[in-house]
Amino acid sequence: MEKLVLAIDLGGTKTKVGLVTLSGRVSHRTYLSTRSYAHSKAALIVALVESCNKLLQDYNVSKNSICGIGIGLPGPIDYAKGVVNFLPNIPHWERVPLKEIIQKKLKVPTFIDNDVNLITLAEWKYGAGKGAKNILGMTLGTGVGGGLVVDGNIYRGASFSAGEIGHMPINESGPVCNCGGSACLESYVGNNAILKQARRIFKKPDITLEQLSAMAGREKDRRAIKLWQEVGKKIGIALAGAINLLNPERIIIGGGVANAGIFLFAAIRKTVSLRAMPTQRAAVKIVPAKLGDDAGLIGAMLLVKEGLKLKG
Ligand SMILES: [Zn+2]
Repeated sequence: MEKLVLAIDLGGTKTKVGLVTLSGRVSHRTYLSTRSYAHSKAALIVALVESCNKLLQDYNVSKNSICGIGIGLPGPIDYAKGVVNFLPNIPHWERVPLKEIIQKKLKVPTFIDNDVNLITLAEWKYGAGKGAKNILGMTLGTGVGGGLVVDGNIYRGASFSAGEIGHMPINESGPVCNCGGSACLESYVGNNAILKQARRIFKKPDITLEQLSAMAGREKDRRAIKLWQEVGKKIGIALAGAINLLNPERIIIGGGVANAGIFLFAAIRKTVSLRAMPTQRAAVKIVPAKLGDDAGLIGAMLLVKEGLKLKG
């Protein structure tokens, strides 16, 4: 029987649980509402385990065909120890030995890592980063996440927290950031910062990012276009620094805001062309992510392959 990985992509709002083949196909998936269990760490862990068991039962998949469990989480993870350091958007998750807990409950080898590391790994292997050696992945949302793949491996750094492009300061001083720093890229281009500006400009307290994208794209509203261009410029400045530092071949941008359309990407590319050093700039392509919603699950499968030293 074909070997499968049980993959979990734990998000602040929604958690995806799926079965992924070793060639990167998500064969079955289910969802659970993270928010419904966020009041208690124990309740969320029980819900994760139950979702895994239910997925196997519902599709009649024997546990013998599961070679590992891979979990992506939105926060800094001690990859080597399998410990969640903390999750900025889910309370009560501090120093949680999740690898050991899940392994004990489900009796399958388990590996955990930061979600954007896994998304970047998946895009490198099967998506917009295919064929490149060195890539930087970035996700735009409430948080602005980042991941690095260097020579085909996740670059994790000394305490496994490398790649945090969202927390690159882009000014000497500026808004206080969720991370405790200030003037971080995220504090300018995270969803909340964009919405705050949009509410002020359009005097609409309930404006959404989708509306803001449509206003720029379909309606060619000058103020909406300008707002997206400003967002793109800020992202471009942070990326110019990252490009000079790392000399990546490709930068892959995903997440809801990445769908804001041509104005955003055009402004990012223009800023990079003005601000990055010529040799590094000439080598890099800035492209939208390709794998969409499944990237985290596919990356979790690749994490298991890496952990078990499976080839291919
Ligand atoms: Zn920050």
